[in-house]
Amino acid sequence: MAVEDGEGYHERPSMTTSETEVLVIGGGIAGTSAAYHLAALGHRVTLLERGEIASGASGVNMGGIDSLGLGDKPDLQAHLTAGSLDIFKTVQLDHGEDIELRQSGALQAIHTEEQLAFERERVAALRARGHQVQLLTTREARSLEPELSPALLGAMYSPLRSQADPARATRAFAALAERRGARILTQHEVTALTPRARGWLAVMPQGSIVARSLVLAAGAWCGPVGILLGLDIPIVPVRGQMWATTPTAPCLFQTISSAESAHAWYREPGDDPPFLTIRKGARVTRHLYGRQRRNGEIIFGGDRELAAWNTTPDPRGIEANRAHAAEVLPCLAGLPIARTWAGLMPFPLDGKPLIGRIPRRDDLWIVGGLASSGFGRGPMAGKLLAEYIHSGRPAPVLAEADPARCVVERMAR
Ligand SMILES: Cc1cc2nc3c(=O)[nH]c(=O)nc-3n(C[C@H](O)[C@H](O)[C@H](O)COP(=O)(O)OP(=O)(O)OC[C@H]3O[C@@H](n4cnc5c(N)ncnc54)[C@H](O)[C@@H]3O)c2cc1C
Repeated sequence: MAVEDGEGYHERPSMTTSETEVLVIGGGIAGTSAAYHLAALGHRVTLLERGEIASGASGVNMGGIDSLGLGDKPDLQAHLTAGSLDIFKTVQLDHGEDIELRQSGALQAIHTEEQLAFERERVAALRARGHQVQLLTTREARSLEPELSPALLGAMYSPLRSQADPARATRAFAALAERRGARILTQHEVTALTPRARGWLAVMPQGSIVARSLVLAAGAWCGPVGILLGLDIPIVPVRGQMWATTPTAPCLFQTISSAESAHAWYREPGDDPPFLTIRKGARVTRHLYGRQRRNGEIIFGGDRELAAWNTTPDPRGIEANRAHAAEVLPCLAGLPIARTWAGLMPFPLDGKPLIGRIPRRDDLWIVGGLASSGFGRGPMAGKLLAEYIHSGRPAPVLAEADPARCVVERMAR
């Protein structure tokens, strides 16, 4: 069979070529949501995933959904978080997909007087913008979450924050996309991408696909996929790691976090990328988030470190995180760790997501750079991108996420 790859026709006798309108690379929450919303808008979509659906960060995250509500003047963050919560609700309540969604609420533990003053200001500022947060005394917080330490100085309460099973949720988006006619191909790794007169040619070991539009949703691997296109996409892999207890009787009801990192990053976010817990091997802060899953496991994590492509958990980070968790919930001190794991978060170097059209290339799009909160933002990020591709016009709120600010030709940087 002759395949045109942008540089002429080549014989590839063992390969097959097919055709689609929109080709999505990556079967995480961002890619499956984009595929689902594009298919729902009537587009012919194919999604290529080199492993299984949710085999990247979307399958191994904590499952926290961070909505504080749209507020009075919603920015991109408010749109992504509140919009994603609405979409998760639709998936579970209207489409009948059991993604273990619960609007559990969340408590952020306050340990010191400095953190208390910081949270007081932060809560006042958020409430002034119409967001749903409240500062609770320790007594009030312990009436919602009895296992919280009495030694805390209070907690920030966010009633809209929710949780869901990340792998189930991501697979649900893929299933919904398929039901609307999208083709989902797993174990299909894209190894080459070439522009054609009108569209793109993607090559995989199994064959090739010709598409009019190409959507990059490759998470932490957007950088390597960008190289296939001669582009420098400034998204780096950041290792996030977690641990779990064995299943235990229900004892945690909210999503639990700590104010320590929020306070530290407010004073010094760091850069290239911001919001890490460990820089050049040295700890700069401790970050904590966790919950109890429906199967009874209690899961916690928080460290974020540039560790190249390493997904082996670092036991020192796991121990630091466990000690932090036990300061917030003393009952955890006696529970053994049953398993640990790690995944790669797609951190954009400037801290902002990339959602939109890549300049100077025809019909090339990206939904990525969702960093440490892409599970709770991915559904709406995928929907906003799908609507942009469909209408040709970006939602005004996407100005903040315009890839034109940072995606350049590889020779240009
Ligand atoms: C330990 C941990 C805890 C986290 N906790 C939370 C949390 O509680 N709440 C929250 O909101 N976020 C959390 N996150 C962040 C969140 O998981 C990510 O931001 C989000 O999953 C990113 O989704 P994505 O679709 O962009 O990327 P991914 O889920 O990584 O998907 C990208 C996919 O692209 C595929 N791919 C790559 N290259 C190719 C190729 N060449 N061909 C075909 N396919 C390819 C990969 O196999 C992968 O499946 C956490 C992350 C980690 C690691």
